Amino acid sequence: MTRPRSPNPINGLHLVRYGTPADQKFLLGEFVKTYDQLVINANMVAHAPAALASFLLQRAKNKPYFIDPQTHAFQHDITLLESDSPAKEGELRRSVKTLIEAYGEPVHTRVGKSHTSILPNDFSNSSLRRGFCDRVIGFQVKTLSMQATSADSAKYYRFLAKKGMTVTTDFGPSLVVAPYFYMDAATLSDWLPVNIALAKDAAKSAAAVGKPLGIQIVISQNVLSTQVLIESLIAQYAQTQPAVFLLWVDAFSEHVAAPQLLDALIHLMNRLGIQAPVVNLYGGYFSVALARSKRVPRLVGVAHGPEYGEDRGVIPVGGGIPVAKFYLPGLHTRLPFRDAVRAVRALGGFNSVRTFLQKICDCKECVATITEEPASSFALYGRSKPIESTRRGTTVVLDYPLPETKAHCVKHYMWSKAREYDESFSGSELAKQLSEYERTLGRVLGLSGVVQCRTWREVLGLTAHQ
Ligand SMILES: [Zn+2]
Repeated sequence: MTRPRSPNPINGLHLVRYGTPADQKFLLGEFVKTYDQLVINANMVAHAPAALASFLLQRAKNKPYFIDPQTHAFQHDITLLESDSPAKEGELRRSVKTLIEAYGEPVHTRVGKSHTSILPNDFSNSSLRRGFCDRVIGFQVKTLSMQATSADSAKYYRFLAKKGMTVTTDFGPSLVVAPYFYMDAATLSDWLPVNIALAKDAAKSAAAVGKPLGIQIVISQNVLSTQVLIESLIAQYAQTQPAVFLLWVDAFSEHVAAPQLLDALIHLMNRLGIQAPVVNLYGGYFSVALARSKRVPRLVGVAHGPEYGEDRGVIPVGGGIPVAKFYLPGLHTRLPFRDAVRAVRALGGFNSVRTFLQKICDCKECVATITEEPASSFALYGRSKPIESTRRGTTVVLDYPLPETKAHCVKHYMWSKAREYDESFSGSELAKQLSEYERTLGRVLGLSGVVQCRTWREVLGLTAHQ
């Protein structure tokens, strides 16, 4: 029996994750029109709701958005939620405290008061669970809307109305997301029943606020690759009726995944797709190609961030050393600058400005940047300066990319992504290009640097002569 399908609350294939306020400049201005919807982490909403509301309403021109409630943060080691500042050692971060206040029990007592992790049996009480769902969803619906009706925004509305512009009064998320917890192969049997119960309760909370429900599924790669586990997960989620499934596989890189694992991802998305459309919350060009080639017809959204975000670990790891990286459009991969130089040279991109724009990239940023001798203009994507710092008692000098280097790289990346989602898609063209890059760059980047060209072709079932 087929169930009635809710209208799809995803506005288009291209979703961008708003990570930090520093990302804003890459999401505004001429970039606003390059993507369809924003995914915003709840901790960002908690951190600076007024600034975020004005960003969305005014500068991002009322771009549709939804909020990831990040409830999984409370199930891990609690020290991950503590402030980094030495003066506040052992204290929870301010945004975390705000979320705990908003979400209430059982998080309030377990995490907020006792500084302990949430466990599955914290949700065994059904009325407590239902209340938790109401509050987590209430936070998503209310927090930014309340800001939008504040004095400043009201003034802005009047200004727009005077100019005869349409004023939206519905400034809420496009959908609400059920509370969820991360499942790995060893803990799936504990968390799966909790996640399903929360999803069912959240359906009532979502109905009460009149919003479509997104059910987020967060699993380890081990779950994905273990057939008995993935089948049990699919069977359980088949009992839920969301408007959309939001999928996150822990630290899953499409570039290094074995073909079997990519097949498993396709299987999972196609099976969930029987129930509701699916969004890959952290995906790269492979996912975009899955949607555009109709290999996964119900994949309706693929999200990435301006800086990171084609894959993401569930447990945050400390910030590494920033490295300038250039997204090589034909390889659909971000390469450390030195590798990018060697790859561009091998592809003939440094022969002339014209060949660079033809063979490598002719996005707005590259047209503006690659103006003279291409090899020396290209250096603008990699300029860095040595900065001295102390690590574990020893002084080290590390090369940090200049702010303008980062700006060049991210803008080129955002234009490249826009093209991947929007340009006409041809399976045979893609197969041809991937084969050419595999051939030309194998000895430049090594087999593991180009192997995805072969893997993707195989898994997508592409041949150059279709
Ligand atoms: Zn470019």
